[in-house]
Amino acid sequence: MPVRTRFAPSPTGLLHIGNAYSALYCLQWAEQHQASCLLRIEDIDHTRCRSKYVEAMLEDLAWLGMQWPEEPLLQSERLPLYRQTLDRLRRMQVIYPCFCTRRDIQEEIRRMATAPHRDDPPPHYPGTCRRLPPDERQWKMARQPFAWRLDTNRALAMVGEPLCWHDEQGRTHALQLEHDIVIARRDIGISYHLATVIDDAEQRITHIIRGEDLRDSLAIHRLLQCLLGLPEPVYIHHRLVRDAAGRRLAKRHAGTTLRSLRDMGISAGALRHFLLNSPDLIWPAERADAERIRHLLGNVR
Ligand code: GLU
Repeated sequence: MPVRTRFAPSPTGLLHIGNAYSALYCLQWAEQHQASCLLRIEDIDHTRCRSKYVEAMLEDLAWLGMQWPEEPLLQSERLPLYRQTLDRLRRMQVIYPCFCTRRDIQEEIRRMATAPHRDDPPPHYPGTCRRLPPDERQWKMARQPFAWRLDTNRALAMVGEPLCWHDEQGRTHALQLEHDIVIARRDIGISYHLATVIDDAEQRITHIIRGEDLRDSLAIHRLLQCLLGLPEPVYIHHRLVRDAAGRRLAKRHAGTTLRSLRDMGISAGALRHFLLNSPDLIWPAERADAERIRHLLGNVR
């Protein structure tokens, strides 16, 4: 079976140094494993994604030296397919409409006797709409906007075996999933989780390489794959680029976007070398001026 991986950015802003690391890591892994590295543009969220960022992204990735063996997949062109899959899950009776707002959820958690009383309760869904009587559900569906949530216990029972994932060495890791996750947001009618597992299967991705910040999505992705009968890819999580205080880079940091580095006259070659060879992946996010960055890139051998 051909070995295939993918880089799947969301065009919600300009690509930054953390995205560049992810892209280069995928490409390097692909080269080392005679694999193909594909591009997928995850632009389902019309509230945050912009086509100007798609264009900027393609330009920045080309500057970085990334080349793709196939045309990029654009998720915004595939919404009908995602909706069909959602319908399938609905017919399987493993999802239910949820009418709760974020505030409803927090209030419900506060009311529950067993919930820890904290000022900032965890955003785990207490199951309110799972328990709605059918007639009330129908009534609300005709009148209120809603999201679709996975009925996790029912889905796990349907799958019938414990959830797990496999790493590159073939080791098996158990997974826990205790909460009903939204798999179709009320505003966009779909979610990252569902679109991603559908497209990983569609693009015949055998190895999913992404940042360790996405590790929490593994359980829901594996559960969806089991429910939908999709193949199980191997998962690899890479470390993240961080600032000197150990925080993830954020889009607010100037001097971290590829665009700003290009404007400073930094070469793609020097940046690639730094990202693929830096022992600690620390980026001077707060004070990333041209001189400091040149010095940093020059010091990694
Ligand atoms: N689109 C996601 C992001 O930019 C990455 C998804 C993935 O690699 O599964 O964070």
